[in-house]
Amino acid sequence: MSTLIRNARIFDGFSTVSESGHVLIESGRIAAISLKQPLSAPEGCAVVDAQGCTLLPGLIDAHVHVFQDVHLIETAIKYGVTTVLDMHNEREWFKEISAVTRQRNDVSDVKSCGSGATVKNGWPSAILRLVSQEENVEERISNWPNIHDQQSIDECIALNKAVGASFTKLMQEDGHTMKIPFPERPLPTPSLELQKMVVEASHKAGFVAVAHALSNHSTLQVLRAGVDGLAHASIDPVTDEIVQAFKESNAFVVPTLVIHASSSGEEQETREIFSKHLHGADREHAIGCLPITADQFTINNVYNQVIALKEAGIDVLCGTDTAGDLPGTRPGMSVHQELWMLVNRCRFTPIEALISATSNISKRFHLADRGVIEEGRLADLLLVSGNPTESIEAICDVKIVWRNGERVVDN
Ligand SMILES: [Zn+2]
Repeated sequence: MSTLIRNARIFDGFSTVSESGHVLIESGRIAAISLKQPLSAPEGCAVVDAQGCTLLPGLIDAHVHVFQDVHLIETAIKYGVTTVLDMHNEREWFKEISAVTRQRNDVSDVKSCGSGATVKNGWPSAILRLVSQEENVEERISNWPNIHDQQSIDECIALNKAVGASFTKLMQEDGHTMKIPFPERPLPTPSLELQKMVVEASHKAGFVAVAHALSNHSTLQVLRAGVDGLAHASIDPVTDEIVQAFKESNAFVVPTLVIHASSSGEEQETREIFSKHLHGADREHAIGCLPITADQFTINNVYNQVIALKEAGIDVLCGTDTAGDLPGTRPGMSVHQELWMLVNRCRFTPIEALISATSNISKRFHLADRGVIEEGRLADLLLVSGNPTESIEAICDVKIVWRNGERVVDN
């Protein structure tokens, strides 16, 4: 089964390489690209005339929680999100989800850390105990790692690897950034020494090491431990020390503006704009927020962090923290909102925002088979009406999505 896409503006993951180019998909891969001269269609090949449209690599959301939620990946792909990075799950649930993504192209692919490198009674078990309605929550938590020495770290990574995980999620959260009545304050956190061991063991296993941290203090701690990136931007005012620490470690940041806006209770209007096409419970969920951020913080701190880091040349990756039960997030739609916020709140050009959701993620997470329109890569592609490289809002006008070369969304 092959497809020829004709006359498309092509954003290849880095820049606009053609105003009227041609891409041939064969056997699930990008078989040929011509930036000017038409390509001839092989016999039996489907042809898409993409005049006036823009072809992009399928978008990647670098921070979600899939859990067992097939609906999340069924929905995300409708917004052109062909891959999501799952930042802490139950290992068994990730195995089940992987079976679904292998069998079906009409869902986003999922890369996962498996279980985060958690400590006993720390993040996120402390919050799960407070908010979860599940009956078996204690049983769930009892399966989580309790890292405390080399052996427990090696075991954590080996078990993650066994279920197909490809990176490690470190947790550095003492709880002071939130107005939540944790039974213990500060929450137990791993020592710097321990986090260094987690990073080292991850790299030895060929894993990228990415950390949850929300404050400057915690961010500096994990940067000193040598992590490859941060799964959130800090909600503290940005400092030279933070920017310098990112530069020295060459770490990336996944700002997750969408969840910061939900947890500070700000940007209500933005959520409403992006969920105006939704109805009922979907809409309620998407326009909701979960204001748990401690009162002294504001989303402007996050914007200033991201602006300073981007200006210092730090890689910024698009991620949203979308999860089934997190108000103010919705699969796929949150990626469009995150891109819009990068442009309209953090001084990104539309091209810079699109890079953050495509080639920057494939580069930093070593996903060499996707994120860029290049011969040989997977045909995970998104066609939108109009030109999102000039006006980021056009990313919402999804026309066609291909995953593994199969046309799975058609509007
Ligand atoms: Zn998260």
